[in-house]
Amino acid sequence: MNRIDELTIDKVRDAAGIVDVVSDFVQLRRSGKEYEGLCPFHGDKNLGSFKVSPAKNIVTCFSCQESWDPVGFVMKAEGLTFPDAIRWLAKKYGIFIDEEQNRFKPKPSKPKKELPIPPDLPPRLWSIDMVTKRLNTDSDLFVSWVYSLGWRLEQRQRIENVLHNFLVGHSAIICKRGEHTERHDFTIFWQIDEQMQVHNGHLMKYHANGHRVKEKEQYPQTWIHSRMKYSDFSKTGIRQFNEYTERASFCLFGLHQLSIPGSENATINIVESEKTAILASIAWGNPRKHLWMACCGIGNLTNRNDMLRPLIKMGRRIVLYPDRDGVEKWKAVVKQIGYQHLDINTDFVEKYWLECDGEKADVADVMLRMIQHPETVGRKPTPKMPEHIKQLMNENPLVQVLIDKLDLVAE
Ligand SMILES: [Zn+2]
Repeated sequence: MNRIDELTIDKVRDAAGIVDVVSDFVQLRRSGKEYEGLCPFHGDKNLGSFKVSPAKNIVTCFSCQESWDPVGFVMKAEGLTFPDAIRWLAKKYGIFIDEEQNRFKPKPSKPKKELPIPPDLPPRLWSIDMVTKRLNTDSDLFVSWVYSLGWRLEQRQRIENVLHNFLVGHSAIICKRGEHTERHDFTIFWQIDEQMQVHNGHLMKYHANGHRVKEKEQYPQTWIHSRMKYSDFSKTGIRQFNEYTERASFCLFGLHQLSIPGSENATINIVESEKTAILASIAWGNPRKHLWMACCGIGNLTNRNDMLRPLIKMGRRIVLYPDRDGVEKWKAVVKQIGYQHLDINTDFVEKYWLECDGEKADVADVMLRMIQHPETVGRKPTPKMPEHIKQLMNENPLVQVLIDKLDLVAE
């Protein structure tokens, strides 16, 4: 065995940060001054026993009753001897080990543990059971928020049906945090295709006011495929870029609505967020005329623009409804795809947007204001008002009422 000189070993020990090293194997999240994750060595299911301390540069598992420094952790996780763990870390941190000063040739590097996934495997899909087991939304904050909105009667009567059509789901995960347990509730927006094959699920946490819990406060896995990968890893302790990632598949949220009887000629309206697709379906209903779907993130139409492919194949008429910050990007998508039945509608964010909606308002915000305050719908957009009328409006609020009542056009 080659000897690595003490100076190099010290260099590697100085360079290796415990959070950085453990993150290569375990998904960590911040908890005060420490980080926590699921221990890869004992089939951990709950947060709380596996703590990483950047200050001490060690990780401790209270269930395994062991602590490891970066070198020790790499030895355990990769099944390496001490010198090989030093080599592993040296490579990670770009530290040169002069093996030539020894008389022996360096050992050939170990073959990788995992087999690569053949590229021609079909995408990973789940059966519809995955969805039907999670349809109980009694304690779901998003669902109760939707019911709490000021809908008109005919809209209210549609809510149950719409939520059922989209197969909105719910999942609760109980985490152990030291003494007490913590409950994480997620609304699940499934991505199901027209053959009822489940491609993925988007997990989101909501506040009671319908706003999303901010990313950093979220439980780390927001997609079903990464959740599955994570749970496999905590069972086996083997890090592998497994099929859940390699074969992860995505499709439009609501694509399966194509099977709704009578919707064969409906226009497909595509918005960015699942929330908007649901609100729009409740607000306007009538799946014979239009079906609302979501691409679940502004980048997904550009990066995964095969999301539209099934619709284009069927020759469906598609209209995109971008958020304000997505107008230019989605206009470029329309141009790039060059499909004759693909249009973009920017009215929601350009024509119907009012200053009271706020700079950051998206389609859902504008739509919600129109639903809750229908009296604002006919109002012409403030920015396009001529200056002298704006001034009149400031001096006398009745001018606004007049403009609304008489439907005056501000040219
Ligand atoms: Zn453990």
